[in-house]
Amino acid sequence: MTRTSYGATSVAPSVAKLVATLMTLCAVTAGGAGPAVAQSPAPALRWYRGNTHTHTINSDGDSSPDDVARWYREHEYHFLFLTDHNFLTSTDGLNALFGADERFLLIPGEEVTDAAAGKPVHVNGLAVERLVLPQGGASVAEAIQRNVDAIRAARGVPHLNHPNFGWAVTADDIKRLNNDNLFEIYNGHPLVNLEGGGGAPGLEEIWDVILSSGKLMYGLATDDAHHFKRPGDPTAAGPGRGWISVRAPRLAARDIIDAIERGDFYASTGVELDELQISAERYVVKVREERTSRYRIRFIGKDGRLLAESATGSASYSIRGDEGYVRAVVMESNGKRAWGQPVMLSRP
Ligand SMILES: [Zn+2]
Ligand SMILES: [Zn+2]
Repeated sequence: MTRTSYGATSVAPSVAKLVATLMTLCAVTAGGAGPAVAQSPAPALRWYRGNTHTHTINSDGDSSPDDVARWYREHEYHFLFLTDHNFLTSTDGLNALFGADERFLLIPGEEVTDAAAGKPVHVNGLAVERLVLPQGGASVAEAIQRNVDAIRAARGVPHLNHPNFGWAVTADDIKRLNNDNLFEIYNGHPLVNLEGGGGAPGLEEIWDVILSSGKLMYGLATDDAHHFKRPGDPTAAGPGRGWISVRAPRLAARDIIDAIERGDFYASTGVELDELQISAERYVVKVREERTSRYRIRFIGKDGRLLAESATGSASYSIRGDEGYVRAVVMESNGKRAWGQPVMLSRP
């Protein structure tokens, strides 16, 4: 097998760190059958399901923060970020009411909501330590960068939201972005143009253009929930549509945020995974299969090229090293999906 090395881009250290973590994890999840384990015992890692994009009546949501927290608590989520538009909703009191060790945690956040060149620019700031005001900019790209920088200055983690909302953000804008490796590959709001159209690419196509340029971006699935009082209404931005499952040593804000930042999670609109191992040599996906569903697992490389497809709920792809990057998509027969994060490779 070709030895894989990592590109000398600004993101290489975080990728190397991710792979090191995942290599260790492989050994944990495979019961010792995986690659060699690091010298010190690896911490036990667990999967935590959560949503990073949610609104309350503190901006344009229809429900109070406690109603919103209760919905996620009662629907088997482990963590929830409240991200009101230009408002930092406190989670202290909510955690006193709803928080439970290893079961549920609210983490503060904000959707920094801006506009540039007549287009919407929305960037989430996860766990910002203070309110971040929209920074503006002469272009969409400049406004995104200025808001990302302001979120970092407030010790938060940025993620760029719904690129096709208002047909605002292009792959070119994201390729140039610094200090943000997270964006929404899926957003549950009904008006965010996930699939593209009219000559504009869909979000997966945008992702492949960005990754093919050598810029690492991890893809999140989020609810962008606004409406908790209109269940069953497809025109509402309801909860429960898109989520991430994060692999972390414990349910604590810092551990969850660090795992998200290093890409140790998958995004989903309903598919759960029993196994996900990503190393420099192999990309392994195993779906928790539903009884009557069928699955396809696709491995995607540079320029969106289909590298391999499995017709079952389990697949293992042997990485050659010349694919540019490898990412995985699980397609469930009723339309649910899961997205595995990319591993960046450089040509030998
Ligand atoms: Zn938004
Ligand atoms: Zn939003």
